[in-house]
Amino acid sequence: MAYKVTLIPGDGIGREVSVAAQRCIDATGVKIAWEEQIAGEEAMAKYGTVLPVQVLDSVRKNRVAIKGPIITPVGKGFRSVNVQLRRALDLYACLRPCKSIKGTKSRYSNVDLVVVRENTEDLYAGIEFSQGMERTQDVIKNLEELSGIAIKKDSAIGIKPISISASKRIVKFAFDYAVKNKRRKVTAVHKANIMKETDGLFLKCAREVSEIYKGRVEFEDRIVDNMCMQLVQNPELYDVLVLPNLYGDILSDLCAGLIGGLGIAPGANIGDSMALFEAVHGSAPKYTGLNKVNPTAMILSGVLMLEYLGEKDAASRLEKATAEVIAEGKAVTYDLKKDRNDPLAVGTSQMADAIISRLKTS
Ligand code: NAD
Repeated sequence: MAYKVTLIPGDGIGREVSVAAQRCIDATGVKIAWEEQIAGEEAMAKYGTVLPVQVLDSVRKNRVAIKGPIITPVGKGFRSVNVQLRRALDLYACLRPCKSIKGTKSRYSNVDLVVVRENTEDLYAGIEFSQGMERTQDVIKNLEELSGIAIKKDSAIGIKPISISASKRIVKFAFDYAVKNKRRKVTAVHKANIMKETDGLFLKCAREVSEIYKGRVEFEDRIVDNMCMQLVQNPELYDVLVLPNLYGDILSDLCAGLIGGLGIAPGANIGDSMALFEAVHGSAPKYTGLNKVNPTAMILSGVLMLEYLGEKDAASRLEKATAEVIAEGKAVTYDLKKDRNDPLAVGTSQMADAIISRLKTS
């Protein structure tokens, strides 16, 4: 019987990379009944909302979804659809493996990191108070009274909730992932020297959970700024990183940069009973409709999806075919060529064609 999977193509380059990934996944021979749902700009135009209720219903019903990137306006407009989806479906763990692929342009050749980012709280919780609003003045007054610290009256305020339950849950996810995938070490990343209560709590939870895995998986912690430098200097020293939401977002892009860019960095948002797979990259609007961008990140997100479905053989065949096409360096998009203006670079769909041919001959 076919697996039912919700497909959300997304905005900008979303549809191009989603179609490429969908074709590659189908070419593995795994039977999937795709249920397309629209969210983002297309849904706004059609239904007057960026996240129609049927999208959430479809993911809840099918329990597996793959999604292209969705635009979020900067500093104004609607709340991120991506954040809304992760929170509404309680997809609390964001998993972003970053592994060097032979043939990519990168300063490093031996990166094999997994970023595990908490997805539901921290400064991403969306608890913000606009500058100049009356209720913001109330918040400022209350905070000044409670903390004894003066706050400038012309401030906007954001709240950073960090809970024991969410922190323990994400650290446990990171350790369970490490055990299941035979990884040697988990590093908790924080800024507990400054944010003693919030990041301090995250670190305390990480230390407590690490005790359960003592003797099986190593544990250490790093302050986030030091971690950035360490990752740039010695990425091979690290293995699985577990982070609160905001640091996880930032370090995901840093780690994508270590392996050659956003075009090849896949991701998954996982909860206890469902998962949504998506590339780390955004909708890259300037490339929309040009059949130009790299489909690898989305295809490798499909590999993660096949693994989640238990289709290990199909997942490893698709991963291998993708790696071979990249290593060969012929049918690849501009970003994987030595010279980004190389006229021999192929388009998104042609790179997917090459991966499909490779799958069929392997
Ligand atoms: P972006 O990831 O869309 O693009 C940044 C740059 O990375 C691009 O200009 C391009 O040079 C490169 N790039 C990205 N994807 C690539 C690919 N597949 N192949 C080759 N090169 C690629 O980041 P941005 O410009 O900061 O964000 C654009 C929009 O996407 C924003 O509205 C943002 O909110 C949204 N976004 C969505 C998600 C998501 O849906 N999960 C994630 C990140 C950003």
